[in-house]
Amino acid sequence: MIQRTLAQAELGETLRIDTVGGTGELRQHFLDMGVIPGAAITFVKYAPMGDPMEFTLRGYQLTLRVADAEKIGVSPLPEGEVPASESAPAAATVRHPGLGEMGGTVGIDERTRDHSDPIPEGQTLTFALAGNQNCGKTTLFNQLTGANQHVGNFPGVTVDRKSGQIKGHPDTDVTDLPGIYSLSPYSPEELVSRRHILDERPSGIINIVDATNIERNLYLTMQLMELDCPMVLALNMMDEVQGNGGTIDVNVLEDALGIPVVPISALKNSGVSELVEHALHVARYRERPGRQDFCDPTDHDGALHRCLHAIMHLVEDHAERANVPVRFAATKLVEGDELTASALGLDQAELDTVERIVSQMEQERGLDRAAAIADMRFSFIERVVSAAVVKPRESRERETSRRIDRLLTGKWTALPLFVLIMGAVFVLTFNVIGAFLQQLVADGVDSLVTLADEGLTAAGANPVLHSLIVDGALNAVSTIVPITPIVVTMFFFLSLLEDTGYMARVAFVMDKPLRRLGLSGRSIVPMLMGFGCTVPAVMSARTLPSERDRRLTIALTPFMSCTTKLTIYGFFAAIFFPGHAALAVISMYVIGILVGLLAALIVHKTIDTGEAVPFVMELPNYRMPSAKSVLLLVWEKSKDFLTRAFTVVFVAAVVVWFLQSFSPTLALVEDQQDSILAAISTFVAPLFSPLGFGDWRFATALVAGFMAKEIVASTLSVLFGSAAEVMAVLSPLAAFCLMVFCLLYTPCVAAIAAVRRELGGRWAAGIVVFQCAVAYAVALLVRLVGLALGLG
Ligand code: GDP
Ligand code: MG
Repeated sequence: MIQRTLAQAELGETLRIDTVGGTGELRQHFLDMGVIPGAAITFVKYAPMGDPMEFTLRGYQLTLRVADAEKIGVSPLPEGEVPASESAPAAATVRHPGLGEMGGTVGIDERTRDHSDPIPEGQTLTFALAGNQNCGKTTLFNQLTGANQHVGNFPGVTVDRKSGQIKGHPDTDVTDLPGIYSLSPYSPEELVSRRHILDERPSGIINIVDATNIERNLYLTMQLMELDCPMVLALNMMDEVQGNGGTIDVNVLEDALGIPVVPISALKNSGVSELVEHALHVARYRERPGRQDFCDPTDHDGALHRCLHAIMHLVEDHAERANVPVRFAATKLVEGDELTASALGLDQAELDTVERIVSQMEQERGLDRAAAIADMRFSFIERVVSAAVVKPRESRERETSRRIDRLLTGKWTALPLFVLIMGAVFVLTFNVIGAFLQQLVADGVDSLVTLADEGLTAAGANPVLHSLIVDGALNAVSTIVPITPIVVTMFFFLSLLEDTGYMARVAFVMDKPLRRLGLSGRSIVPMLMGFGCTVPAVMSARTLPSERDRRLTIALTPFMSCTTKLTIYGFFAAIFFPGHAALAVISMYVIGILVGLLAALIVHKTIDTGEAVPFVMELPNYRMPSAKSVLLLVWEKSKDFLTRAFTVVFVAAVVVWFLQSFSPTLALVEDQQDSILAAISTFVAPLFSPLGFGDWRFATALVAGFMAKEIVASTLSVLFGSAAEVMAVLSPLAAFCLMVFCLLYTPCVAAIAAVRRELGGRWAAGIVVFQCAVAYAVALLVRLVGLALGLG
């Protein structure tokens, strides 16, 4: 029989998965996401451009590329058979068979308490907050600690770990980890989580589970339990489950898992204090999970069960020495996890034995090693879920999401709507909301500056001091501060797109065109965030699972014009293109995008011809963003930006003023030509003559802009003093070239530091050089074209 693949599924068809192809980490990732032989999967739709595909699996939405779906063999679901998850026997608490047992059977309802003493009061209890992506970890973290971390409805928003104290419990420390689907790391953020839990050994794990998607979420729970660390399960989003008429029997779940289970709603802050009590209790009394053995004794897991126990015996001493929980070590060895194999330090003979035991199991079980383990976990979950959970037929959120998706990811509507939505974001930011607020702030700042100027004159202040305050500091700050509303409005909209869940759809829709450039759909998120600020954009690239995609995406984000560059465009547009300021600014954005995409295409076609890695992503339900979360973000961004305006920019302005007002012999200069600054910049300036802006003051501003882009505009306004002076040395064409150069040249120090953190120093340096070269080339090109057209 010729096997059908998932790629050949008909719309709406439900199929049974027979084989899962692929190799290594990718295959493991498929399995971890629940794509395992025997599972039922429904094909929902193609992305508008025919790739990737959207599926429903174990009650959640999953995307796969056509090429990956081809690796998955399927067959029709036998007539009358319902998917396993709905028909499994209600036998969650089957007793252990006692096959090849070490010691006695672990009681299911009694948690194992360490014989050592409880952790004394006063000693800090550390907790790790672990869970799938997008299950509400950050929301819970904020409730627990009173912190204001950004939450987002996009898989992988928390890319770095953050920690804080639980409110009212000073001797605690909880860490918010990036979301993970399993303890087999697939992307670097998953590695962060795994390392944290394994190496730092928290006193307790708070495993947060999205109750609306409990099957997929419990998969991680089972792996965490193998770590043999005190643990509680926070059953989150219970408000949605109950709202849809579903119920979850917490006692059954507790019995089956042997850990405390606390239903909560992180969003509504209910159940959280009870969760804290349980977490403190298990951590203090070192109560470890009461169950680690998930094999089903009644049917097909016998072989795997024997295999796991044999390996546990074999590696027990190694595990103890390496301080790795033995059950975890055994499972990971069976899965073929190399990190664990090397951590245990097994010798060749032992490795051979492990290999023999595992291949024996594969033969008996009729499934390969990784699939056998995944199948064991999911079978256990199915049994538990069928006993404990009454699912509503379809949640309201799911139904709404599907209806919205008919438009937002529909074949003919997706792209026009994407363009429309992004267009609306830009128009609202630059022309309506942001612009209105900007005017208000600008007027306010102007009258303040005038007031200060008059006040100083009236008070008869020393002219040097007067110049320092008015021409230096205030002048600079008043160029920057009015831009704040635009920056904040931009972030407001970007976070709105993310919080609602739309970003994940954009990734789904844009995957195919981006792949032509060697990128993946997920690259769209860093790129869009780049319009806000390059620093978080570069960090968000961590959600990309392959090193290659990540490098390319990170190299591309600085081309997306960040909001601070607006200060520069604003400065020149106001002087040179008063009637067409908007057009001038928009053209900058377009040039940035085009140059970025072109650069990616060239790199992809020449140096790096590799393929983007598979696109396996969950599509979360659309959610109404909470006002609190959005307001917090707006507040944080305003604070950030203003802090920068009054620290970095302020200091830079004072330094520039000093260098400009004094000669190398530290005498106050009459003509700025004699200043220290002019002396330095004269070296660099000729470099820019071919581009039309050879005046030393531009060179100075550009060099200063390395610190932060706002400084370019503030430095120019300090150096020139008036628009007429700028016009005296710059033609409109040269001004445009200068804007292009600023758009494309080196990212600011903060962004470079972020790149360095992600990719290392060599890449960071490479990106700086590359961008400067591109900026120079493109600006030169623009100038030559302009001159040829007679625009000079
Ligand atoms: P993380 O990725 O695990 O850190 O998840 P987040 O904390 O960023 O939350 C993801 C989404 O779920 C956000 O849109 C939250 O507002 C939402 N959310 C979190 N907890 C709850 C809850 O208890 N109930 C509901 N209805 N939504 C929640
Ligand atoms: Mg988070």
